[in-house]
Amino acid sequence: MRNLQGIPASPGIAIGSAFAFLDDEEPTIPRYTVTELELDGEWDRFVVAVGKAKDDVTVLRDRATREMGSEHGAIFDAHLLMLDDPEVLDAIDLSLRDSFLNIEWIVHQYEQTIVKRLEGLDDPILQERTVDVHDIIKRVLNHLMFRERFSLADLGSDVVLVAHNLLPSDMIAMNRARVKAIVMDAGGKTSHTAILARAFEIPAVLGLGGAVRGIKSGAIVVVDGNTGDVRVDPDAQTLERYERVRAKMAERDEDLTAIASLPARTLDGRDVLIKANIEVPEETDSVLRHGAAGVGLFRSEFLFLQPGRAPSEDSQYAAYRRVIEAMAGRPVTIRTLDVGGDKVVPDLAIEEEKNPLLGWRAIRYCLSDPELFQDQLRAILRASAHGDARIMFPMISGPVELDSAIAALERAKAECRKRNQAFREDIPVGIMIEVPSAALIADILATKVDFFSIGTNDLIQYTIAVDRGNERVAYLHEPFHPAVLRLVKKVIDDGHAAGIPVSMCGEMASDPFAAIVLLGLGLDEFSMSAVSVPDVKRTIRSISFEEATAVAAEALKLCSHQETEAFLASRLADRVSRGA
Ligand code: PEP
Ligand code: MG
Repeated sequence: MRNLQGIPASPGIAIGSAFAFLDDEEPTIPRYTVTELELDGEWDRFVVAVGKAKDDVTVLRDRATREMGSEHGAIFDAHLLMLDDPEVLDAIDLSLRDSFLNIEWIVHQYEQTIVKRLEGLDDPILQERTVDVHDIIKRVLNHLMFRERFSLADLGSDVVLVAHNLLPSDMIAMNRARVKAIVMDAGGKTSHTAILARAFEIPAVLGLGGAVRGIKSGAIVVVDGNTGDVRVDPDAQTLERYERVRAKMAERDEDLTAIASLPARTLDGRDVLIKANIEVPEETDSVLRHGAAGVGLFRSEFLFLQPGRAPSEDSQYAAYRRVIEAMAGRPVTIRTLDVGGDKVVPDLAIEEEKNPLLGWRAIRYCLSDPELFQDQLRAILRASAHGDARIMFPMISGPVELDSAIAALERAKAECRKRNQAFREDIPVGIMIEVPSAALIADILATKVDFFSIGTNDLIQYTIAVDRGNERVAYLHEPFHPAVLRLVKKVIDDGHAAGIPVSMCGEMASDPFAAIVLLGLGLDEFSMSAVSVPDVKRTIRSISFEEATAVAAEALKLCSHQETEAFLASRLADRVSRGA
């Protein structure tokens, strides 16, 4: 048995067979000479590989069309056209017969030539086609080299997914019903892979920093997403112990579900709202099952992470409307596109940047692409006619940026009016407070919006200068750092002084100890992964507002996160359980 310790990123215990999805590097292309007699054989190998690639692409095209509409399927039609293009086939044939080199090398060289040609063009749309060329040629090469590119969508049996790093787009594409747990080298608690794992209720341990390399496909793995423990090839005793813990947790889940219908009310009668964060529309069932009072954050960018082109205004409208209607009158806060950083959308041409987390992200990206932004704003506005929708801008760093976002919203409203499309004229508009500059001028920003929502995942990242996805420095991503607590307090106080409610949708809100401090600081709303809602509701119900206020006042006087943790543990541990 091998014991590994990582970051507990999504709760739950799973025991299963490992699937090592580690083969993610670019292959080395072989280069060797062939004789004249072998040329036809090389060509035949190429024709077979192209045929297989066409079969793959046809399956993908049909799936994309079925699940997301014909405009998404069209991208694969373009791939099929390229595989049939006589000009392409002739060029490869000619080059093979001229050079007497193996076909893999010829195909690889052909790709280089085409990519260079496309990159040299002025037209950015044609330049973007290099991604398609790479995709299709890689597919042919993989077949030539018998290196089938496994898609996580094709998982056919239950597995514990073991990977160096899964991207948010992998998480969206994979066959989620088959993934019983995730174990990963990279990532921290607030990385988007962790957030998605919680959204899909898949136990996950991240941040193992290289240790997953030793886990072979087929090994039995126990994953404890509550503690971060991973056991590889466990002995019978260990297996039995984890089976018992699993059964106990199932009982506890039932208890928690029982409180789903109760209000989030303190012992002395103060009500707060506990809402859920969602990434995809299908999560609304889980939101309702866990007793959330609404959706406090709909991370709309995950609609853009689906394979295929960026969604049209109409398909976004349909997705937002679906969520709003499923929530049946409960509020739904839709955050406008927050791309960039680790959320790379293949269809949006965000160039590689030296400092992506400080770069062309979120509202900055949207303001630079008015057409895309207007499509989204109109889609949200139109959906607002069907229930209680709110709109929220991410990564606001200052008042001028906020004014530009609000002006864009006004333009979208004017266009909807012109088109006679119904929408809620007074749709509440809020901002995420996740950049320290915004927190420090919360008093100024509060005069311009209807609500704040504190995004501590990023606020902590930017305040402490700690990459939230980097396992090496994950220990620094600390919600109880005095600087973070002071900023949070300031945002709540400034929001209240201006008469607007203040919410928190960062993961900090889901920690029971933090929830008490936040309650005591006067936070009005909490929003978190749906699975955490019952725990936090139980926490709020276990304490009086008066006591929480005293706890928060004390916590603010302390000089380090260790002191705060120790103080909260001594004061609360007998009543408040922190995780399972
Ligand atoms: C945050 O930064 O706290 C937040 C909720 O946004 P995201 O996790 O999507 O960056
Ligand atoms: Mg954020």
